[in-house]
Formats: sequence, C-alpha cells, structure tokens
Amino acid sequence: MKIKNTKKEFNRISLQRAIIACLILCSLMICFGTATFTGKQFAASKLSAQPQPTPPNDPLDDDGLQALIEKLTDSLGEVIEDEDTQNSITEKWDARMESLKGKTAKQVTDLLLADVKSIVKDTEAVSKLQESFAAAIADGEPADEPEPVESPEPVESPAPPLVPNINQSVNPALRRIAEEPLTQVQKDIKGKAEMDIFEERTNGVAFTPEEVTYKGLTYTIYKDSTDKDLKVKVAGVKKGLQILIDRKIDTPKGLRVYIGGNDPNARAVALKRDRQFKQVAIVVLGKKTMVPLDVKSISQSKFKNLDKPTITIIHELGHILHERSLGEAFWGKRLQGDADSKQVVKVSFYGIKKREFVAEVFAAWIIGMTFDKDVIKEYYLLGGPQLPK
Ligand SMILES: [Zn+2]
Repeated sequence: MKIKNTKKEFNRISLQRAIIACLILCSLMICFGTATFTGKQFAASKLSAQPQPTPPNDPLDDDGLQALIEKLTDSLGEVIEDEDTQNSITEKWDARMESLKGKTAKQVTDLLLADVKSIVKDTEAVSKLQESFAAAIADGEPADEPEPVESPEPVESPAPPLVPNINQSVNPALRRIAEEPLTQVQKDIKGKAEMDIFEERTNGVAFTPEEVTYKGLTYTIYKDSTDKDLKVKVAGVKKGLQILIDRKIDTPKGLRVYIGGNDPNARAVALKRDRQFKQVAIVVLGKKTMVPLDVKSISQSKFKNLDKPTITIIHELGHILHERSLGEAFWGKRLQGDADSKQVVKVSFYGIKKREFVAEVFAAWIIGMTFDKDVIKEYYLLGGPQLPK
C-alpha cells in the first residue's frame, strides 16, 4: 500500500518536473526571444534527437546518465519508505552528480549503491535495491528529457537597488518551517551524511593550512599542493571573503576552506553540521571547481570580471548562512524540491532546487547584481539570509 503510494508520488513528481521544465523552456522562448528555433522545430529536433540506449560497458552520455538516475530514484522510492532516509540518500547523490559523468552505468550504480549502504543498515532493503538497480542497468531505456537551455544573463537593473526586507507576510511561513523540529535520528542521519562527504573528499590528503585575517575575521585555507588550480583558487577565496566582509556579511567564525582533495571530479560543497549535528562552517573546493557547468550558474557569469572560484566561495557561504538563518528548518521538507520556476529563470539555471536558488541569489546580490521584487520575495520565502543594502 505504502509502496504504491510512494511510487505514485514519484510519478507525480516526475510529471510535475516535466511540466515545470516545459514551462521554463516556453517562457524562455517567449520572454527572451533568444531561441534560434520555433516550438515546432523544437518538437521535431526532440524527435530526431531521441537518445539510444547505451551498452552497459560504454560511458553514459548526459541523457543516459539522467535517465539512469531517474530510474534509480524510482527504485529508491519503492524500497525505502522513510522519506528522510530517501532524502539523505538523494542529497548524497546530488553532491556526487558531477563526478558521475563519463562513467558506465555499472560504475554509476556501484557508487550510488555505496551511498545507500552508508545510510541504510537494513541488509534486506539494501539487497532489494541492489537487485532493482541491476534491473535498471539491464533495460537501459533512456528518458525523454528536455535539453538544457542556456540561461539568460541576469539583468543589471538601472533602478536603485531594492532594499530587501523580511516582511510580515513572509515570516509566518518561515515560522511554520521552524516549527517542525528534527528527531534525533534525522539529525544523526544528516550530520553523518555531511561528514561522510567531507571525509570522502579530504581523508589522507596532506593539506597545508594558512590562517587569513581580514578586518578582524579569521579563517583558515587548507591547501592541497596537488591541485593544479591551487593559486587561482586561493586568490579567489581571499577575494570572495573580502567582498563578503566588505559588504558587512556576518561571516561564520571558524570557517575552514579546503582546496583540492582526493576526488579528481569533485566540485564545490559546503558542510554545515558535524556528526553531533553541531554547526560547522566548512567549504571544500574540489579539483573540478574551475570547470564550467553544463547549465549556466552565477559562478561562471564573469560579472565584474570576477572569476569562478571567487563567486563560488560566495555561493557556498550562501548555503552556510542560509542554514544559520533557518537552523533545523533548513533540513526540513519545505526546502526540498524546486523553487518557483518563474523566479528561477531570472537568476540562473543552476538555481532550480530551492537551496541552490537561495545560494545563487545570495551570490549574485553580493557581487552587485540586482533582481526584481518577486525574486527577492521567493528568496525570503525560502528563508534566505538577510541581504545587504
Ligand atoms: Zn550550491
């Protein structure tokens, strides 16, 4: 009974996602007029671009990877009933996503199954998942997902910047989120998931610490000399922190930024809680931080000539400050899923997920971009940290 409902829920979510993706595509074509083809041509191009299943020993292309992840997510929903456990697993998968590119279906499922095992201790559930993952590789039928579309450059508004404010109509929503405290089990799962990611990326790496103080704020950069982009990342971290502190952002005390690490495919990640669920402020800028993403993000906007690591560190601090502003509510159900697509298209395609939307708006605002009041309203509805004037 429960399993059927979960499956239905997943189907409903998939359908909603497809609709939202279509809405984003359509509004882009209408609003920005930058699309080079008409709707009809688009439909035709989709038909001809129908991806073929990838043989199990060949690396997956983007469509194949996407399709496989969707299947595995469905299987997860069928086997694991507890939503928090599901979410902890998919959060780990999200963090791993970029590093899955170029891998075979078998390699991808092995890695994702390892994430499951790190969270689920019920051996029966794990072996059920193992079976259904194997079945998912066997019938590698790709999903028909819309192609990613380049996001428009954020518009720098000529009007005086809107002074953001958490108004009274927004506050009750935030209070409701905060009224759902986490259980000890949920805290244990979430804290473990965070620290597992940290340890996976940093264990056994010889980092050289450098303590940096700017205007009274001290933080530490941990440098891995095997990262070929070390210099530009260190400069980016210092520049990003300088911008944040100059804009009077209450930057977390005891911030630790790790550059490099042992995963050659890791991008950037912010860790906010330790295993005891105590607040920490850790950012790991993995070795792939410099490589552009497939979808446009604020970090690669080159706004005011700022480079990717400079904007990335501000985005990651946005995640940490978002967590600080919401506390336990940050980890609750209301921040899962996608932000309002009408606002997302005005910011960046990377910011579809609610928490990413907040971090993207935060980074963009800090470096001087401005947005209309609806974007800012959505940002505060999601509990975004106070933006400076
Ligand atoms: Zn992010």
